[in-house]
Order: sequence, then C-alpha cells, then structure tokens
Amino acid sequence: MSIKSTSSKKVSRLENILIIGNGGRENSLAWAIQKNKLVNKVYIIPGNAGSERINKCKRIKIDINNKNELVDTLDFLKIDLIVIGPEIPLANGLADFLRKKNFKVFGPGKDGAKLEYSKSWAKEFMRDANIPTANFWKVNSLEEAKKIIHSSLTPLVVKADGLASGKGVFIPDSKDECYKATELIFNGKFGNSGNVVVLEEKIQGPEVSVFALCDGKRYILLPTAQDHKRLNEKDKGPNTGGMGAYSPAPLLTDDYLHRVTKEIVEPTIDELNKKNIDYKGVIYFGLMITNSGPKVIEYNCRFGDPECQTIMPLMDQDFVYLLEKCSMGNLAGDEKIVYSDKVSGCVIATSKGYPQEYKTGLPIKIGEIDTNDCQIFDSGTSLSKDGELLTDGGRVLSIVCQDKDFDLVFEKAYKNLKEINFDGIYFRNDIGHQVRKKFSMEN
Ligand code: AMP
Repeated sequence: MSIKSTSSKKVSRLENILIIGNGGRENSLAWAIQKNKLVNKVYIIPGNAGSERINKCKRIKIDINNKNELVDTLDFLKIDLIVIGPEIPLANGLADFLRKKNFKVFGPGKDGAKLEYSKSWAKEFMRDANIPTANFWKVNSLEEAKKIIHSSLTPLVVKADGLASGKGVFIPDSKDECYKATELIFNGKFGNSGNVVVLEEKIQGPEVSVFALCDGKRYILLPTAQDHKRLNEKDKGPNTGGMGAYSPAPLLTDDYLHRVTKEIVEPTIDELNKKNIDYKGVIYFGLMITNSGPKVIEYNCRFGDPECQTIMPLMDQDFVYLLEKCSMGNLAGDEKIVYSDKVSGCVIATSKGYPQEYKTGLPIKIGEIDTNDCQIFDSGTSLSKDGELLTDGGRVLSIVCQDKDFDLVFEKAYKNLKEINFDGIYFRNDIGHQVRKKFSMEN
C-alpha cells in the first residue's frame, strides 16, 4: 500500500475538536485526533468514564437536544471541528443544524443519513444506481409480506426498515419463522422503525467492511476491516453490535478492492450527487463477498463500532486533517492516508446477558496492562461517586492491539484481557480466527 503524507495543505485552526457520542468508537476517534500537535483539546459530549483517560480529552455532560445550550457551549469552547459519531443524531439532522450555525461538521445531513435509517430507501437507491445487492421487496403490511414469503422458494431475510440498534434483522431458517419475524416487526417490536418491512433474498459469503471518507464529491478509503457480529465462538448465537474486529481484511486484495471501488463505492457517491445529497462524512459499506461478486448488505452513515476502535490506532497524526477536509468539501481525492504498517485487532468485553438483559454498575478491576501498542477504549463505563470504574452497558470495554501479524495482535489482546475483570465478563476467544495462523477452531 502506498504511503504519502496528507499534510501538504494544513489549512485552518484545529485547536478545539468536539466529538458527539458515548461509546468506544468516539473514544478511539478522540485518541486518534489528539495525536495531532495542533489539537489542543478534544471535547466529547457526553463521552463515558474512559474519555478523560485520553490525553487532551474532556467530557461535557450536556444534552445535545437542547439546541440553545449546545450552540452556546460550542461557541464558548471555540470549537473548530465537530465529529458526530452515532447514527441517531445524524438521522435527526444534527449535522444540518450545526452547519447552518456555521460550524465545520464531519457527518452527513439527514438526507445522507437515510442510507442507514431507511433500509428500503437504501435498497431503492442501490437499485437506481445498479449497485449489486440482494433482491428485495418493500412491504407495508403483513398480508403483503405473507404472499411474498409463501411464493419464495427459500426463507427470506426480514428487516425492520428503520433504526433498531442492530437488532432489526432476522435470518430465519423456515418460512414460518420468516412470517413470525415479520409479524413481530409489524406488531411494534421496533416502534415506528417497523412501519415498513424489507424482505430480502438470503445471500452467502464472508462479510467485510469498507469505509470511504467523503467530502460530497471526492472520497478516500480507510483500511478495510472484518468484524464478528455473532455473540458466540465459531460465529454462532444472536447478532450483537459487534464482538471484535480486525484490520486490514486480507480477504480484500488490492484487485478486489479496486473492483469494489468501481462497482460499489464510486456508483454510491455518483448516485448521492445525482440525488443532490452533499454527503460530508464516512460511508460504511457492509459487504458480502458472494460467488457472483461483492454485494452491499448495508450502508451505515458513521464509523462502525468496533471497526473504528480497530482502525484508529493505524492512523497517524494527520487523520484529523482528512476529517476537516471532508467537512469543508475540499478533499483532493488523491490523498493517501498515512497509516501504520502494523495490523490491528479488537476484542470486546461484554456484560453477562448481552445482547439481551444485563446488569450495570458492576466494579471493573484492571490489573497490569501491556500498553505497548495496546489501547483500552471504554465502550460502556461510568464512575462511582468514589471514582471507581463501573460497567455501564452491554459492551463494556474494547481491547485493541497492533503488531506485525494477527497472531501477535491477539496474543497481546488476550493477555491483557486476563488482567481485566468484572462480574460476568464475557468475550469471544476466537476473534480474528480467519487470520490467526496459530489459532485452531478446535482449541
Ligand atoms: P444488517 O443490519 O443489514 O447489516 O444485517 C445484519 C447481519 O445480517 C449482516 O451482517 C449479515 O450477517 C446478515 N444479513 C443481512 N442481510 C442479509 C442477506 N440478504 N443475506 C444474508 N445475510 C444477511
């Protein structure tokens, strides 16, 4: 991979950066951004208990929905660039609002976020642009769905149209299960997000993630990644927000990535332009590599979690310039990201019971961590009144390591995990099994 500095055009003031969000993703973005010497402070609204362990970082606990307070705070802090992490504020038009107030914002407006918050819209978008994806049917009622389910030769994948925290997708094994999943969604399991259902042909193949930083017209790709969505080892069990990831994904060779660029990335950006959508942010392409080529499973309008935690340590201090250029619409498009020649892997430690019910408020003990090319990004933590670190989410900590091969990466990550404890801690031992030469599924 070619490596060239991005720093030729160091344009404006980048002293005070604001990140919106409260997970491992936002902490890893803050960690990557603070590396830049020009950056004086990284504020995170609202962040979590791990945010202030990061150099130059400060949490601000205000409600982003209180728009007056938000703008006053940003003015007071002299914020130079805002990075919006999660999908919900993007879907609610926060980026549009802040741009109108003359802030530089990395994150698409409501129109661009629709790629994520309406699966049926995204599917129609792909159909319009001839972008390869599974066949689909958009349905508005159970009756309509029933006819399609019964006339299909194989069970279909069932998806709630709107945002559902990664829980709105069902992969049934029978038509009966298919019908039940559709009924569950139409009965209000996901509220208004389930007013429309998308039925999809089930496709097969390994999944990979591609990220394009986009300034509205031009784009650059970040290192690729592969994540593990299933809760249990051997990629079994229910879907989760993500149990771990590794980057880059060797499955995507340079040639294959070129194909993905021509068949998927560029047509996506062209179609956004055709629809007059000025997309300034990251487009996440969740792809399946099928026998007939790459197909889009989903778009996200933000960095994936835990892929973001995995990729950020590979970025050098110029990363923040790329975000700024996207926000201003002035990417040259031929920037080559300066990134480490190491590989990176992330293991997520979760609360017992996740992705269903789980307890919070359990004390976390962290022993002696090997900090050499290793980071712990808090995903869901809080502090007790006495300053003790507590669990505060389903996904609690992201343990991320870099080294020259994936065996060394995961050896370090699992060694560090032995030093971390809280009641009911759970993590998969086989993260990155595809790329660990020394790992056997029979272990
Ligand atoms: P999504 O939220 O749309 O990414 O779906 C979550 C997961 O469901 C994906 O990562 C895939 O593993 C699986 N999935 C979604 N759509 C399909 C499909 N059409 N065929 C097979 N698996 C799918």
